[in-house]
Amino acid sequence: MRVAALGSGSRGNSLLVEGGGTRVLVDAGLSARQIGRRLAMLDVATEGIAAIVVTHEHRDHTRGIGVAARRWGWPIYMSRRTATVCSALLSGEEEIRTFERETTFSVGNLEIRAFLTSHDAADPLAVTLTDSATGLKVGVATDLGRPTGTVRDALRGCHFLVLEANHDDLLLRDGPYPWPVKERIGGSRGHLSNRMAAELAAELLHPELGGILLAHVSEECNEGRLAREAVVGALADTGYRGLIDVATQERPTPLYDVSALRHRATGGRQFELFSDLL
Ligand SMILES: [Zn+2]
Ligand SMILES: [Zn+2]
Repeated sequence: MRVAALGSGSRGNSLLVEGGGTRVLVDAGLSARQIGRRLAMLDVATEGIAAIVVTHEHRDHTRGIGVAARRWGWPIYMSRRTATVCSALLSGEEEIRTFERETTFSVGNLEIRAFLTSHDAADPLAVTLTDSATGLKVGVATDLGRPTGTVRDALRGCHFLVLEANHDDLLLRDGPYPWPVKERIGGSRGHLSNRMAAELAAELLHPELGGILLAHVSEECNEGRLAREAVVGALADTGYRGLIDVATQERPTPLYDVSALRHRATGGRQFELFSDLL
C-alpha cells in the first residue's frame, strides 16, 4: 500500500492512496492541471486513478473535482449532503456515486469508510482506506476542530495516518488574521492545532503504526518544523520508529510504502495482521 500527498494546505489538498493495485485520490482541491502534473511527478498516470473520494465541500478540497472528473472520467464518491452543496462545481456530466457514513464501500481493492468530524462544513468526513488483500489501513483526518470519539475510534489500528496539524497556538494568537477568523480556526469546528495533533498521534500509537504524515499546515500560523517537533516530542519516549513527515502546499511528498514503513516500525519483527481473529 502506498500513500502520497499531491499537496496540502489551506490553498488545496489532494492525497493519493494506492492499495492492491487500486489508486484513489482523497480530495481534489488543486486545479486539474496541477493534479495531472503532480501525479506525473510521482510516475502515476491519470488513467490509473479509479476515483476521487471527497471529504467535504470546501474549495481547498474540491477545486479540481469537476474538471478532473470530466477530463479523465474519474467517478466522484461523496456523501449525499456534500453532493448537494457541491452541485455548483459540477456540470452534471460527472459520474457521482454517493455513500453513507460508517458503511464500508469498495473501490477496486480498497475498502473505504467515512466518519463524521467536527468542522464547519455540510458533512465533513474523515476516511479510512483498507487494502482488502493485506489488511493494511490508512487513516485520513484533516479539517477537524477537535478529534471526537468517533474519529479517534475510527483511526485506531491504522498503519499510516494523515493527520491535520494546522496551526501553532501562539502563532495563531499573534498572527495576522482578524479575531473572528482566529476564533473559527481554533474553535471546535475549525482546524486541529499542532498540540492536539500530537496528543492524537500519541493516543493512536500502536506497534504497527508505520508513518504519520502531518497535513493542512497553515502558511500563516504554523511552520512544518513546529508541527513536526510537536509530534516528535509527544512520541519521544514511546520507542516509535516510524516515519513522521510534513506535507507541503507546493510539491508532492514521496510515495510512502506503508508495508515497508510498518516493517521498519516493528523493527523487522513480523506481526500477524489478523492475529486477533485466530
Ligand atoms: Zn481544508
Ligand atoms: Zn474544510
